[in-house]
Amino acid sequence: MSTNPLLQTAGLPLFDQIRPEHVTPALDVLLQQAEASLEKVVGPDVPADYDTLSLLLDVATENLGRAWGAVGHLNSVADTPEIRAAYNENLPRITEFYTRLGADERLYAKYKALAESEQGQSLPPARARALKNALRGFVLGGAELQGQARERFAEIQELQAAKSQAFSEHVMDATDKFAHYASLEELAGVPQDVIDATRSAAEAEGKEGHKLTLHMPCYLPVIQYAQNRTLRETLYRAYTTRASEAGPAERDNTTLMQELLALRQEEATLLGYPSFADVSLVAKMAESPQQVTDFLRDLARRARPYAEKDMAELREFARTELGMTDLQAWDMPYVGEKLKEARYAFSDQDVKQYFTEPTVLQGLFGLIETLFEVKIKPDSAPVWHESVRFFRIERAGVGADVGELVGQFYLDPYARAGKRPGAWMDDVRGRWSRPDVAGTQTPVAHLVCNFAKGVGDKPALLTHDDVITLFHEFGHGLHHMLTKVEDIGVSGISGVEWDAVELPSQFMENFCWEWALVQKLTHHVDTGESLPRALYDKMIAAKNFQSGLMTLRQIEFSLFDMRLHAEPGSDQRIQAVVDEVRQEVAVNIPPSFNRFQHSFSHIFAGGYSAGYYSYKWAEVLSADAFAAFEEAATPEHGVLNPQVGRQYREAILEAGGARSAMENFKAFRGREPRIDALLRHQGMS
Ligand code: ZN
Repeated sequence: MSTNPLLQTAGLPLFDQIRPEHVTPALDVLLQQAEASLEKVVGPDVPADYDTLSLLLDVATENLGRAWGAVGHLNSVADTPEIRAAYNENLPRITEFYTRLGADERLYAKYKALAESEQGQSLPPARARALKNALRGFVLGGAELQGQARERFAEIQELQAAKSQAFSEHVMDATDKFAHYASLEELAGVPQDVIDATRSAAEAEGKEGHKLTLHMPCYLPVIQYAQNRTLRETLYRAYTTRASEAGPAERDNTTLMQELLALRQEEATLLGYPSFADVSLVAKMAESPQQVTDFLRDLARRARPYAEKDMAELREFARTELGMTDLQAWDMPYVGEKLKEARYAFSDQDVKQYFTEPTVLQGLFGLIETLFEVKIKPDSAPVWHESVRFFRIERAGVGADVGELVGQFYLDPYARAGKRPGAWMDDVRGRWSRPDVAGTQTPVAHLVCNFAKGVGDKPALLTHDDVITLFHEFGHGLHHMLTKVEDIGVSGISGVEWDAVELPSQFMENFCWEWALVQKLTHHVDTGESLPRALYDKMIAAKNFQSGLMTLRQIEFSLFDMRLHAEPGSDQRIQAVVDEVRQEVAVNIPPSFNRFQHSFSHIFAGGYSAGYYSYKWAEVLSADAFAAFEEAATPEHGVLNPQVGRQYREAILEAGGARSAMENFKAFRGREPRIDALLRHQGMS
């Protein structure tokens, strides 16, 4: 057992040694230690003292969390049937432990005693906030409820989990069950790779023609490029009526949506709130459902003229260039694509040749070093794949702490078999002045992307979207690693309000559009030239294509979600709310058969209920934060201003969750966020 790498809790995870057979025995030990710590900490001999509670409970859950984090990470990036089996076998008992921990009445009483004690009243601000968050978590987890109410609360949680799961299964099944076999002629206009893939899919079933499905890699290119209008309509109709009454009853989500909304309202009532939206906002930056709907309506009002202009242009182009006089919902993506091609002819393929990976990384690291007074250096650690790299961030600039280790990160850049698609930042460990060992634990992060690996000895070529993704994830990583807070519950991204967590990530995306930096990020794979200005100008021109329409669409989803969860009784009038929101917001009303809400998994099966607005909310914050750099720009260095970089780092990245997101923002900007920068960046001012 002493040789089990998952039990080596000091130092970095031993990714090169962890085997599937280590998982269950290690978790047996760590879960048992965590259980024992929980039992001990709630006992009468343990005083309600911050350090004592942290030493007993935080250390045990950190060890468990780190080991489980390593297993989860391998399951995501180095999936094999064995590691997946070990992960799935242990997932239920991990979930069960944390759920129980979060609603333990005895533990809640202990924390409450601490909060009410003299010590609790005079904690340093970061600790006070960590304690406040912990207490809030208990209350929202039903820890204050008694008797029947307590039982019903637990029952509601289980019912919601089961119904959300069923909702998402219906959407998946409805997506999977649909197939349309098209002839080659019907697919005129569709890209060749999609034609080939759909032919193979039909062939695999022994069928003629091309198998079209509702999965994105098929649906999207067909709806965007197929010249055949009837085909587009067929797919659009199928896509927007998934899991609705238009299909088989066993996959119809109508009743589940009503039940979920009723259960959420009941949960809110038990907790003493007027609506589920009020519950959802307790731990968020937004203060009330009214504040959110006011924000959305204000943004809708400002975006509307631009959306109307976008729509008029589409209609005009469809009429004059494509001979279409009655633009329908299933024509919009197709006409949009044609208009975009006509107006900004350039190909992603051309752009890619300039964004060679080593230059992009060098440019990104240089930006981080300039803005945030750090140095990024190669470092070494055990890894799970030969292409994974490891780096360390050291303090630079002037001062006694120059050369001090700030944090470390793994960079796993390329797509490969057994790796989950997408890109993400994950924490390996957070900054923490540990109660059990001397010194400060420095933060470590995973940065995972899925770029196409370079061919032969050529470097990987990134699309501009890839570059934006990389910057986005580094924004999360910097938030995690540059923190100066030493309390684990509120250091880095821990304890940051959910609707503000995308501020540092979206903030970084802005730099990908700055000419001064783009020159440093590019080096043509064959000629070594940086991106030509003419190509850059085309990219900039295309950046805000149809931003008015897209903004209104996001607002439509957000307002629908917020009203649904803020208005008791909405479970009986879901379609009516959809219709009202569209009448209020949309510039083109979708056809009456459209049932997008039946597959709106974000709010019915994901964590976004009464939270979908967060996307736009955080975009306001990140755009306004970036505007501080624009305001201080100089002809020589553009927006790459180290003074503003330091202010941003200190107010937002270093403070992390130890202050409210609003306080952090105000510490940086000296005022509350304004919407102007977002509108300007998206060409709506
Ligand atoms: Zn993000």
